[in-house]
Order: sequence, then C-alpha cells, then structure tokens
Amino acid sequence: MDCLKMQKAAEHNMNIHPMWQGPLAVPGGDRQSPIDIIQRKSVFDSELKPLVPDYDPDTCQQMWNNGYSFLVEYDDTTDKSTLKGGPLQDKFRLCQFHFHWGECNDWGSEHTVDRRLFPAELHLVHWNSDKYSLFEEAVMEDNGLAVIGVFLKVGKRHEGLQKLVDALPAIRHKESIVEFTRFDAACLLPSNIDDYWAYHGSLTTPPLTESVSWIVMKQPIEVSHDQLAVFRSLLFTSAEEEVQKSMVNNFRVQQPLRGRTVRSSFSPFLQEAPSAEDKHSH
Ligand SMILES: [Zn+2]
Repeated sequence: MDCLKMQKAAEHNMNIHPMWQGPLAVPGGDRQSPIDIIQRKSVFDSELKPLVPDYDPDTCQQMWNNGYSFLVEYDDTTDKSTLKGGPLQDKFRLCQFHFHWGECNDWGSEHTVDRRLFPAELHLVHWNSDKYSLFEEAVMEDNGLAVIGVFLKVGKRHEGLQKLVDALPAIRHKESIVEFTRFDAACLLPSNIDDYWAYHGSLTTPPLTESVSWIVMKQPIEVSHDQLAVFRSLLFTSAEEEVQKSMVNNFRVQQPLRGRTVRSSFSPFLQEAPSAEDKHSH
C-alpha cells in the first residue's frame, strides 16, 4: 500500500513543479538523495557519537519563498551557529532550513523509513567551515555539507513551529521575503537527537551535488494538521502570474541506494523497546 502511495506521490510531484520537468543536469553519480532507509539493512556503528548543535538565535535573519519551499536563513559569516559531533569530523555552520511537504498527510517527506512516508520533512543545512570559506564553495565538495533531516508527523500543535507558521502569510508568493529574527532552530529538533541514521548523499534540489553528510533523525516531531495546512497555503507562483499554484509536493523522487551503507547510531536490536517518541512529546 505504501508502494502505491509512493508512486502516487511521485506522480503528483512530477506533474506539479517546473523544476523537475525540463532536462536536469543530474551529475549522474551513485550517491543521490533522498533514499528509503531500510531499518534491517542499516548498520549499527558505535562510533556515531551524539550530535552537538550549538545555535545562536541572533544569527537568524530572514525568511523567503524561493518558489519551491520557504527558507529561513541564518547569518553564516561567523561560527556562531554550528553543528559538530555525530558522524562529522569537522565543524559545520548553519546557513538555512526549509521543509518539503505533500498536498495531504499521506506523503510529503523525501526520505522514508521502511517505505513509511511522513507528511513533511525538515532540512537543516550546514556547511563545513573548517575546510571551506563559503557555502558556494562547500556545496561542490566532498564532505562540504551536513544536512539534518527531521520527519514531521501529525499530532499536537508544535509551539516552536508556530512562530514560523504565523509568519508564512507574509511570504505567500514566490520571491517574497520578510525579516525573521531570533529564531532558535534547535526548537525544531526532536527531544532525542542521539538516535539517527547517517549516510553519504546529495542535495535533493539542483545542483544535486553529492556533497552531503545526511543525518536523518529517528524520532519525528509532532505538528498539527492546521500547521501543515498553512504550509500548503503558500504558492509556487509570484503575484503577477495568472494561474496560482499551491506549494505542495515539493519533494524529489527517491533515488537508488547503489551499494551505499546507511549507518545507525542506535542498536537495531533495541528497536522493539518503547521509543522516546512515545514517552516524550513536545
Ligand atoms: Zn531539502
């Protein structure tokens, strides 16, 4: 059933956004994203340490509609908001976060777990400031980027997310931008950030470069249906366009694993134990 859902989701996606319609300059590599994470095939790695996000809300600057998603952007000219630890050897700077979502709650995430789709997925994008001096440089290089993926599931209203949701009507149209400050991106992380999957992949939007250390959180965050409905009220189109198009299904179709290993920071043998997700909530 999920297979069918995924196929349907993919069809909706291909029908809607112009970005995926024309011929794409896909690098043709073997490390593309997103992927389906198959839990029984992921390999527990005791070397995968806890993640250390250290974000300064004062580096938050603005929010804009880029015609495909909405981005919350951070000042990344200094090491004030960084990510270390986990699978990372270097220090990475937070530059932006954004989401991918579906037209309904049945699909919308880019990654899936055992083919389970989530209604949305958050991506916190960081670049390696130990090795590179600009995002534009890091994006082309191996080990240049680290992206944290967080699944969103429907449940209780998320208080941290609400500040974003309240600002969205101001950037309904493509290319609109508003000042957005003092937002602590850490409030969008799940309560358990120690359990995650890690693999080498790519950006899921052009330039699709294979520069990303992916860190996909096991525990989803809970958001309300109404909050997701506000995401869906955004538009792919600018104010001048005659036919307005809802910003939905802004995810890339899944890519083959091609022999890559997905590592997990947690032991799969403990999978059946009650998860932190059930015990704690936002
Ligand atoms: Zn993304």
